Amino acid sequence: MIVAKSYSGKRVAVMGLALSGQSAVAALKAGGADVIAWDDNGSKCKETEPLGACITDLKEEDFTKIDALVLSPGIPHSYPKPHEVVEQAKKANTPVIGDIEIFATNYVKPRIIGITGTNGKSTTTSLIGHILKYAQIPHEVGGNIGHPALSFENDTNIIYQVLELSSYQLELAPSLSCEIGVILNISPDHLDRHGDMRGYIKAKSKIIEGLTNNGTAVIGIDDPDSRYIGEGLRQNNCKNLSIQYVSGNHLPKNGVGIVDGCVVSYVNAEESIIVDLNGNTTLPGTHNQQNAAAATSVALTIGISPEIIKAAILTFSGLPHRQELIGSYKNLTFVNDSKATNADATARALSCYKSIYWIAGGRAKQGGIESLGKYFPNIKHAFLFGECAKEFALTLEGKVGYTICDTIHDIFDIILSDLYIAGRQYGVVLLSPAAASFDQFSSYEVRGNIFRSLVNDKIIGNSKLKLNLP
Ligand code: ADP
Repeated sequence: MIVAKSYSGKRVAVMGLALSGQSAVAALKAGGADVIAWDDNGSKCKETEPLGACITDLKEEDFTKIDALVLSPGIPHSYPKPHEVVEQAKKANTPVIGDIEIFATNYVKPRIIGITGTNGKSTTTSLIGHILKYAQIPHEVGGNIGHPALSFENDTNIIYQVLELSSYQLELAPSLSCEIGVILNISPDHLDRHGDMRGYIKAKSKIIEGLTNNGTAVIGIDDPDSRYIGEGLRQNNCKNLSIQYVSGNHLPKNGVGIVDGCVVSYVNAEESIIVDLNGNTTLPGTHNQQNAAAATSVALTIGISPEIIKAAILTFSGLPHRQELIGSYKNLTFVNDSKATNADATARALSCYKSIYWIAGGRAKQGGIESLGKYFPNIKHAFLFGECAKEFALTLEGKVGYTICDTIHDIFDIILSDLYIAGRQYGVVLLSPAAASFDQFSSYEVRGNIFRSLVNDKIIGNSKLKLNLP
């Protein structure tokens, strides 16, 4: 655990007591701060009490007597409207920060590899961790994935801290300084929390603005907004950064990209093939090629040999809920892509398969599924559920056949009873919701786990299943 010594003797309020909030309470207490904390969910308050924080409704507190407000990344601090407690803190000129800020100001000799982007953060972060493990370089992986940064060991033997960073975390970490910063891609997401696209891009750019002098910026250039950041950086490189461009669909000059399905590096006008991803089932699609290119760029930057990078990428087992292959029954394959909470992520999965029985819906993001029209020919039938089922149906009207259901359980009842989907012909049953899970589930993990259980219990492991196959 990190000991937040810089807050010794200070009075600090922590709002939001999920994993990162609790780790902030522990780090601040260990550093000698007087910590008050609150979560609207009473059970989170109960869990936190033993860590030594005084549990009190922060709305009742006088923020002129509080030195900092540590805000959970899930709580709005600007848009659509600042949380009441944030408004009070701002009025009292109390700094509003996140757990990453405490990490950045208290970790002894940090060498941070930070990864952000709209999609692919977790996959790329884990892949970088896997390569470092393969190369036997001591490191820790966390932040927005796995365990919170403040629960890292403050151990001088650990060389790199690999942090997945969301835009919310970046906004609340003004002192964060990465040695290597990765922006994978930028597409519209979470715009309600950033005001508009400009606000979102500004938040993502903070990872680059905070880089150490002579650090490395790894920038995906497959979308206009990231490309714009990359080009701007080249024109105004006041920190003498090494700038690496990465792509999932071509080979950029000065960086890492893809040629005929292989990850290739192009450095000092020399091309070198790192690994062939053709037929790789854990990293399917051009989006994963982009992730592999970014991870390769980071690994080459820190001096890992191409042979080790290749071996590590080929043994990467992928992450659950990201195009996770659950199994097959007859000619049907079941894929869990519950982490696809926006249209751009779903586009990647829809582009990877043909004859898709698409399960989608939940709480819609701005723009819904309008952008997915190009992939509609890959869909045989859509099963829509959740809050936005009707909205999605309007977009599919006249283009793709659909069925609206209340729940994912109902969808499985139809799959089981409906003969046309019962393995007569090749097909992929794909959960890739293009929407957030919060209307019916506590998280995308719970949604994906339910899908996995339904596939296993009702189909793959169902000995009574007598589908009327031809
Ligand atoms: P994040 O942590 O940014 O949400 P994940 O690696 O968890 O990213 O993947 C989330 C979703 O985005 C999955 O559905 C996955 O298939 C898709 N995805 C993964 N990498 C990319 C990428 N580079 N570009 C677009 N979509 C991606």
